[in-house]
Amino acid sequence: MKAIIIGGGIGGLSCAIALRKVGWDVTVFEQNENLTETGAGIVLAANAIKALKVLDVADRVQGEGTPVGVAELRTWKGSLLTRLPVEKQAMRYSTPSYLIHRGSLHSILYSHALDIGVTVQLGKKYTGLIDSNEGAEVRFTDGTTAKSDLLVAADGYRSKVRDGLFGHSSLRYSGYRAIRGIGNFEDPRYPLAAGGGFEALGKGTRFGFSHLGKGRIFWFAAINEPEGQGTFLTPEEIKKHALQKFRNWYSPVPAVIEATPPSDILTHSIYDLVPLRKWSKGRITLIGDAAHPMLPNLGQGGAQAMEDAIILANLLRDKPTGEALTEALKQFENVRIPRIRKIVHQSRLMGRLMQLESPMALTIRNTAFRVAVNKLFITRLHPVVGYEPPIL
Ligand SMILES: Cc1cc2nc3c(=O)[nH]c(=O)nc-3n(C[C@H](O)[C@H](O)[C@H](O)COP(=O)(O)OP(=O)(O)OC[C@H]3O[C@@H](n4cnc5c(N)ncnc54)[C@H](O)[C@@H]3O)c2cc1C
Repeated sequence: MKAIIIGGGIGGLSCAIALRKVGWDVTVFEQNENLTETGAGIVLAANAIKALKVLDVADRVQGEGTPVGVAELRTWKGSLLTRLPVEKQAMRYSTPSYLIHRGSLHSILYSHALDIGVTVQLGKKYTGLIDSNEGAEVRFTDGTTAKSDLLVAADGYRSKVRDGLFGHSSLRYSGYRAIRGIGNFEDPRYPLAAGGGFEALGKGTRFGFSHLGKGRIFWFAAINEPEGQGTFLTPEEIKKHALQKFRNWYSPVPAVIEATPPSDILTHSIYDLVPLRKWSKGRITLIGDAAHPMLPNLGQGGAQAMEDAIILANLLRDKPTGEALTEALKQFENVRIPRIRKIVHQSRLMGRLMQLESPMALTIRNTAFRVAVNKLFITRLHPVVGYEPPIL
């Protein structure tokens, strides 16, 4: 049985590995000409680490990343609001969360996929579906076509396959822009040996700092702003903008930004999508951001793409054909959509809480963080990060 996957991101490569593990013949088509080390840091909570174990790459990821040993919440001036009980969580889930460069995670997934016999074709941009009855046949911009028994769309949050299957649905703007950077920075208050770092909260603005592994640090900022503003900034202008925004903040913040080369700073407006009621049609299904773009406030987009991949492969391990394949894809939706809906919703709520602007609301929130850290960050998130994927 042959599967085509459109998109070689975290979701597409995870799905390729998972389907290959249960015996599918898999080809990934990726529009980029090469899969190089790009992107920023990515946090991998316990459920992501467990998914990576199922995909047989957790050891390599844990070796290249760094465990989150400290997670402080502070005000923008530096007053400590709370420390998240990361040790307690690590004991509960038998693993800490990890921070890793997205490019490193991607390279590990890519090389493992190749090692186990996945074919990856680069420079192949999907442009449309030719047929989905006798087999899933697709066309690429270079005029070539490919045919398979199953088509998995992992082509990201602006998925062209999704638009083709269900019509275009507009993304929802979150109300904020993310700026992310990677650099080398040392601060004795946040030693590498401890891992992790802090998140500082201002008015409609926050800044996070964490170790990334391999001696590097990762930072991110989320800044409330009207949609579209700043889209055409150059890297130098983005850095200047961030320095301006954070110039009076808790002492390492301006220095961390200052120490980052403009070429290692990225910025994006942040979007999600009203959850879809269906992800599949016939022998085609969506996974990852193509199925369910979510706001990054819980750090779960990559993790959920990996979970999708594993659940899908588990349901397709008997290599169903015809009606049985369509049924298996429906089953995939039934298992995944309710969980994803909750996570999309929770990510939005967390974003609202973190990006508050009203001084009174900020005071109430900061008090809640001081007194109810377990309820807000541990109990509420248990169903998300405590998830155990099936073994393939
Ligand atoms: C600011 C920010 C911070 C985040 N932080 C975290 C975090 O800490 N932890 C976490 O788990 N998640 C995080 N996420 C979310 C995570 O990055 C995504 O959910 C994840 O990358 C989704 O993977 P994907 O493979 O579904 O999509 P993508 O990573 O977008 O991959 C899609 C792939 O498809 C390719 N493609 C697109 N169109 C075509 C086409 N027409 N033909 C062929 N190929 C195509 C693209 O080139 C790309 O390689 C964050 C997201 C943002 C924006």
